[in-house]
Amino acid sequence: MELSVFVAPRPIDLRSDTITRPDSVMRQAMADAEVGDDVLDHDPTMAVLEERVADLLGFEAALWVPSGSMGNIIALMLHLQRGDRFLAPEHAHVLGSELGTAAWLAGGMPEALPHDGGPGRPLASTVRAAAGGGGPYFALRTTLLSLENTHNFAGGAVFGPDEWAELVAAGRDSGLRIHLDGARLWNTAVALDVPIASLTAGADTVQVCLSKGLGAPVGSMLASDAARIHEARRVRKMLGGGVRQGGVLAAAGLVALDRIGDLVEDHANASTLARGLRERGWEVAEPQTNIVLAAVADPVRTVTELADLGIAAVTVAGKVRFVTHRDVSAADIDEVLERLRRM
Ligand SMILES: *Cc1c(COP(=O)(O)O)cnc(C)c1O
Repeated sequence: MELSVFVAPRPIDLRSDTITRPDSVMRQAMADAEVGDDVLDHDPTMAVLEERVADLLGFEAALWVPSGSMGNIIALMLHLQRGDRFLAPEHAHVLGSELGTAAWLAGGMPEALPHDGGPGRPLASTVRAAAGGGGPYFALRTTLLSLENTHNFAGGAVFGPDEWAELVAAGRDSGLRIHLDGARLWNTAVALDVPIASLTAGADTVQVCLSKGLGAPVGSMLASDAARIHEARRVRKMLGGGVRQGGVLAAAGLVALDRIGDLVEDHANASTLARGLRERGWEVAEPQTNIVLAAVADPVRTVTELADLGIAAVTVAGKVRFVTHRDVSAADIDEVLERLRRM
């Protein structure tokens, strides 16, 4: 009798850049962190991280929050009143991926704008047209523009300081406040080689994630002026996001910030993956950052077939999404392309 032994291929996980595990350097920094009670006294390491991020983004103050979703909802709760409308590019995270909290917690009526300015963003003229004028007392009041850079579901699409400034001006001229969901703003800065603050200038609030490409286990930051961050701290507590010896987590965030430059490797790996997929006949646009979207006939089936080869991906916006990150190497990408020969 012949025995066949099935050896499952070593899994290579390209579902998201959130799956990275803190390495020994980061864990050591967490273990050594100076801590205090952040709710009572402001934890000292939290304070250092918040000041560093505020400086980096060009704001007066910043607040650590447990997740990007909480950073976004706190900002929207500060900006929106019931009966307000807010504008965001189609498929924005705040529209489709936060369980409707923009509406049921912040009380805002969402309006999706087309990506007529390029992948992931509207034209400035579209913002002006959508914002409209005052209208009668019973009209919705459009009060907020929420932009996203990189735009996740548009495939990690970026836009630069000039376009950002035009969109901010369009919003401002129309009386809108501006929020930036910059979960992967670090990727934009690295891809375009521009200062991060050039991508945030003029915003009222900005949210950035430490737990994606930068590899922290948990944490995002909300930046704004000092008065708004004071209010944001109250809202964070309302939502149950006040933590105690948060310095352990902030220490991971500080190490994460040292690693912004490493994102070039993720971008190079995404580019290699996209090229390899195209050579194998896949329909793939050139990635601008660390996200590769592939258009396939049946995304769900393709993801299952990939899983059989030990390649983990997800479906997003009717496509297959691969995300490169610090826990996959260039050799892993070569291995992925090798395995795809068998598909
Ligand atoms: C991941 C992500 C968020 C939310 O971050 P979580 O920490 O998962 O809550 C917000 N916006 C965008 C664009 C994201 O990709």
